[in-house]
Amino acid sequence: MAGSAREYHLRCCACGTTYDDDGVRLDCDQPHPPALLRSVYPQQLSRAPHDTSMARFASWLPRSRTIVTGARTAVFRGERLGRHLGLRDLWIAFNGWWPDRGATLATATFKELEAVAVLARLAPGERRTIVVSSAGNTAAAFASIATETDLPVLIVIPLDAWDALAGLVRVGPSVRIVAIADGTYEDAIALAKRLAARDGYVAEGGVRNVGRRDGMGTIMLSAADAIGALPGAYVQAVGSAAGALAAHEAALRLIGDGRFGRHLPRLVLGQNAPFTPIHDAWDRRAATLAEITPAEARERQRRIAASVLGNPAPPYAAAGGVREALAASNGSTFAVTNDEMATAMTLFAELEGIDVEPAAGVATATLAHAVRAGAIAPDETVLLNVTGGGRRLRPRVTVPQRPALVIDRAQLDIGPDLIADGIGA
Ligand SMILES: [Zn+2]
Repeated sequence: MAGSAREYHLRCCACGTTYDDDGVRLDCDQPHPPALLRSVYPQQLSRAPHDTSMARFASWLPRSRTIVTGARTAVFRGERLGRHLGLRDLWIAFNGWWPDRGATLATATFKELEAVAVLARLAPGERRTIVVSSAGNTAAAFASIATETDLPVLIVIPLDAWDALAGLVRVGPSVRIVAIADGTYEDAIALAKRLAARDGYVAEGGVRNVGRRDGMGTIMLSAADAIGALPGAYVQAVGSAAGALAAHEAALRLIGDGRFGRHLPRLVLGQNAPFTPIHDAWDRRAATLAEITPAEARERQRRIAASVLGNPAPPYAAAGGVREALAASNGSTFAVTNDEMATAMTLFAELEGIDVEPAAGVATATLAHAVRAGAIAPDETVLLNVTGGGRRLRPRVTVPQRPALVIDRAQLDIGPDLIADGIGA
């Protein structure tokens, strides 16, 4: 991704204040309730000819650095799955490892699109280490891209997530990983927050980082490019819902562009029961997520098979958040059981010929629900976002690797300085 001129800017979804991008800004400075920033690109979408990676859409990515990437979403007609579900124009955006079909995300999930864009967004003079927390896929994506680009990243994960990461990524010297034994995703978030507050570090920020959302927004751009128009409906399984917001924001930009149609794709979002905070809130058209105790949240999170969807605090009520996107697009939400998810994963593999991640199983089951409920019509153009797949084809990394530091959950109250010393940072 070339180009150092920052011809785009950031705009607050609540108050409209605009900012030049410093590469890491996450929030508006004005005093108001939570709001997302959104990047605003002044020009129409230009597509780099002969480039089939996400860099094809570099004109709509926040960027300061040249990052050479082969990361590519494959968009194709899902004819067999569509026929099975009674859909005449189903398209699949496959985000994973399936080189035969043109999908080349080395860590097998759409998180790689986020990592590329977040790191490309960093200002050229940025010397601080970016701190990322993750339950798994995001960590693998950042470890892979930061290794390729030799950019300093500190990643905090539960120790449970280490083996999968180490099997996917040969972790390079610019990447330091802190693993929390017996830790949860919430523990990783909390520790990352403390580490990011130290001099020399800066928080990556998750869904609030426009790099993440615009990186994943290239999925909708790839689809509009392949289909020639915006789809009528967009189907995805959501946890933080960053991917759904990304799709929505990309669709708004494409409508502004004028060449891809005028209608926002309806967001059709699925969650894995019994952990369904967005679905529960939207079903009641509630203004905010229902409050549940951390213990109750943990208990429900433990019972979902698509564990990556267990985000307890998605930006539902924030300005520019999920509730607004569902309302603006006349969207709908569905709850999918573990059994329905497993059945959908098998169905997808049988019909389309590739293994998909549990979250993509939830998305496929959501699509089936939506068709049965009449929320999607048989002749509509539908885009199914398969957010991860192809892991079985992916060669495993077999060299022995270890995290920079393993810390016990009981030791988390020691100072972040000691932890930083422990990783030699
Ligand atoms: Zn604001």
